[in-house]
Amino acid sequence: MKEENPISFVCSLCGRPYAMEAGRDRHLCPVCSGSIEPVYDFHGKKEHYRSILRRGSSHGIWGYRELLPVDPDVVPVTLDEGNTPLLQADHLARELGVRRLYLKNETLNPSYTYKDRFATIAVSMAKHKGRHTIALGSAGNAAAALAAFAARGGMDCFVLLPPGAVQDRARQIRSYGAKLITMEETINDCILMAKRGEDLFGWENVSTATCFHPWAAEGYKTIGYEIGRQLDFRLPDWIVCPVGGGALLSKIYRGCQDMLALGLIDHLPRFAGVQAEGCMPLVRAYETGKAVADDWGVPDTIAFAIADVCTFESATVLSLLRSTGGTAVAVSDPEILEAMQATGRKEAVLAEPASAVTVAGVKKLLAGGTISREESVCCIISGNGVRDLPLMVQGLPEVPRVGVDDVEGLRAAVAAYQKGKE
Ligand SMILES: *Cc1c(COP(=O)(O)O)cnc(C)c1O
Ligand SMILES: [Zn+2]
Repeated sequence: MKEENPISFVCSLCGRPYAMEAGRDRHLCPVCSGSIEPVYDFHGKKEHYRSILRRGSSHGIWGYRELLPVDPDVVPVTLDEGNTPLLQADHLARELGVRRLYLKNETLNPSYTYKDRFATIAVSMAKHKGRHTIALGSAGNAAAALAAFAARGGMDCFVLLPPGAVQDRARQIRSYGAKLITMEETINDCILMAKRGEDLFGWENVSTATCFHPWAAEGYKTIGYEIGRQLDFRLPDWIVCPVGGGALLSKIYRGCQDMLALGLIDHLPRFAGVQAEGCMPLVRAYETGKAVADDWGVPDTIAFAIADVCTFESATVLSLLRSTGGTAVAVSDPEILEAMQATGRKEAVLAEPASAVTVAGVKKLLAGGTISREESVCCIISGNGVRDLPLMVQGLPEVPRVGVDDVEGLRAAVAAYQKGKE
């Protein structure tokens, strides 16, 4: 029995209905630039949906498929993505001086980032459509995710990568058998080129912004659902999230909105969006009171994965930050580096720069009094720093070397470490 879940798409800001025509460049509201998002009809079925969210998912994110805009006959291509730990980070909380801190550890996804929650849907849908090849422009993490799921689904994957991408990302992408092409200029140019490949080669463009793939971006909502279930639907006061194009933050918010609509929570948490000072189009728009962010010039930050010159979802994100009493903040590269190292040392979570911005952001928001020390906070640790180990050890003292039987040398090495601890 196939029961079609009749899904319509509307502008999440002004509510105008939207026709999903194939071949469109970008799905953004032509009137207010809001994100185009599916709406689900919970009417008369709230208990059913509540039981789905209470139960969680044991097959990747597909246990939530009734809340995803995917045809019932699509066969999932999954690597058991999602279901990531929510760690209570007491050591780091003490260091930062906040009552309670959680880390949503998305680094443990199959390709090491939360983008797997997108990739599983995008690849499943492309395969269902009969496509053989997917393509995308990416800073690296999206490409690794799509390349991994393409391999799993037996499909070809072309990746267009900008020149500054981290080399270990490129190697990871090629390890999944994807066909890598580097391009001059920005991620944005790469995304547009992937789009052109649709006509040229019959590629399926799966670039990861909500406006390019409003279906697959819904996968990120499940992070919100999981946090809800993991905390018995008592959400933290704040959810602190990195912002590149804005999909991650806006979709975690959507997940919380669903829980509110279903009566599982009674108010929304406040959201803080964090960017790097070297690329902060959203923060600038937030601070200057704008409704839509202008594009940034040339990014200059170690947080490469969120150095998007265009915050595609800026209208939606700015609106939700303001309506939840949230905020947007930028942090410097030295602050990011310090946060990466502290998170590894205190909690054994290796956060890549684009994820460590959240921990650096909490520190800054506590210092400025925006977040109170009595509140609880959840940082979204979006990607794994095991591919950024040179940064992890940057600035640490040199590793001492001891010869055979050199007990005095060993004493000196141990003493040097002890001294460093004081
Ligand atoms: C893609 C990415 C983000 C945020 O991306 P959005 O475009 O805002 O959804 C954050 N962290 C990491 C590690 C990423 O790869
Ligand atoms: Zn609109």
